[in-house]
Amino acid sequence: MKILKIIGFSLLVLIIALCFYGYNNLRDRHPGYSVDLKIESKEPRVMHAGFAAVTITPEYMDPWNDVDNNARYEPRKGDTYEDLNGNGKFDTYWIAGFGNRVAAQGVHDDLWARTMVLDDGNTRLALVAVDVIGMFHPMVIDIRKMLPEEAGITYLVITSTHTHEAPDLLGLWGESPLKSGVNKEWKEYIKKRVVQSVVEAMEALRPAHFRFSQNLTEGMVTLKDTREPYIFDEGLRMMQVTDAETSQTLGTLIQWANHPETLWSKNLLISSDFPHYLREVVEKGVYHGDSLVRKGVGGVALYVNGAIGGLMTTHASMEVHDPFLDTVYVEPSFDKVRAQGDTLGLIVLRTMEEKAVEVREAGINLRAKTFELPLKNRLFRIAAAIGIMDADMTGWMKKRTEAAVWSIGPASFITFPGELYPEILNGGVVALPGRDFPVDPQETPPLRDLMQGEFRFGIGLANDEIGYIIPKSQWDVKKPYVYRDKPYYGEQNSLGPETAPLLYSELHQLLEELPGTPLLSSKTEQFRDEVLERIKK
Ligand SMILES: [Zn+2]
Repeated sequence: MKILKIIGFSLLVLIIALCFYGYNNLRDRHPGYSVDLKIESKEPRVMHAGFAAVTITPEYMDPWNDVDNNARYEPRKGDTYEDLNGNGKFDTYWIAGFGNRVAAQGVHDDLWARTMVLDDGNTRLALVAVDVIGMFHPMVIDIRKMLPEEAGITYLVITSTHTHEAPDLLGLWGESPLKSGVNKEWKEYIKKRVVQSVVEAMEALRPAHFRFSQNLTEGMVTLKDTREPYIFDEGLRMMQVTDAETSQTLGTLIQWANHPETLWSKNLLISSDFPHYLREVVEKGVYHGDSLVRKGVGGVALYVNGAIGGLMTTHASMEVHDPFLDTVYVEPSFDKVRAQGDTLGLIVLRTMEEKAVEVREAGINLRAKTFELPLKNRLFRIAAAIGIMDADMTGWMKKRTEAAVWSIGPASFITFPGELYPEILNGGVVALPGRDFPVDPQETPPLRDLMQGEFRFGIGLANDEIGYIIPKSQWDVKKPYVYRDKPYYGEQNSLGPETAPLLYSELHQLLEELPGTPLLSSKTEQFRDEVLERIKK
């Protein structure tokens, strides 16, 4: 009897300890935090802009100088890692994006926090593009709280490029699924470096002009959609910022939508994947061997991703043509990624030169808001409870996240906190027999149709990474399946089926409330019908 009592008591203590542990991991680290900004621009004027690029490459990992002789090491179960770097210290960086236990073996190219600060005299907006798989909202809040007051930032957007060739920052790709893959020192280092990047860009503020351009026809190159309906976010959109006095380029924002994972799953060298080559080309030019084929524009290039859910990828089976050599790359390699960067860069540079709309005076209209999303995904719940995912719950399985919309002259921008299925942005949400929920398309009309201006940038993985944002009428985990005899990949990396309609309605409202927004066009319905017609064919 006594033994039973002791066991019972011990179990009770264990359960209480586990509950406390889970509660502690789920608790809100930023109680009361919220954003609710609604700012209208004053009279158009010459704005100020500043750029900065700061590396976030793990500090104590030397650049790899011996790629050709790289004796690749993929740790196996039971291996010890202590000696991996010969210093008796466990400092392995687990590469995020494909599987667990992929230890980085060196650095191919630096990872960056690249910042653009824009100031219209009334609002100071900072946009940081970071070469990581994703950044959860609590880390964004931490960084905002670290910004010095004198930086005067009205609103900070941090967007992840989603490179699948950089160390884990979300926790899901560690030594085992039950161990976070985040190197904590590196995480703290990134926070400081992002702050430094913002401060440097702020200190570099100069009177500036803008050159907006876009190429909505040629961006399909090297893109694959791995799930029906085959809707892409293939447009290439550029915002080139020049010095108002010297006309020199201060920096360029480039938005496209694709997973930076062309190097695929076997690569063990830290890299930002195709954004690295694309940025190099836009800044320094396109080279064939030693000869310059097209001049770069200089300044600091930022790459931001659009709607990449669904998902948008340069699959390992896809061909990439070298724009100069009579060579086609299929096997993932740095040559393949370079060819991709060159191809995209040539399109981007030509488009910027030929089609830009110059804007000399403008102002910033801004609407930004935090809100809650239910966390329904059971695996994510467990990951959050055991501390692998930094979820920062505001209530029982409710997660705080954020979205924003802003406009500058003829350009408008929306930011969403994860990997949006492109049909939500561009149209083409379907509701087909076999779907899990008997609902019509919820996320219509397409968000891009509700945006204003000629240049409509959609920026994903912004201020959070909530995973896939799947139209509710396309949610498909139960039999019968819509397209084939097994479910598609996607739902297991989503917060849940309510994510898309809730986020859509928030963004819809923000777009309606964006100061300076003209009444919405009645053409949206017609546009949707056209897209649906196109899909049926
Ligand atoms: Zn992804």
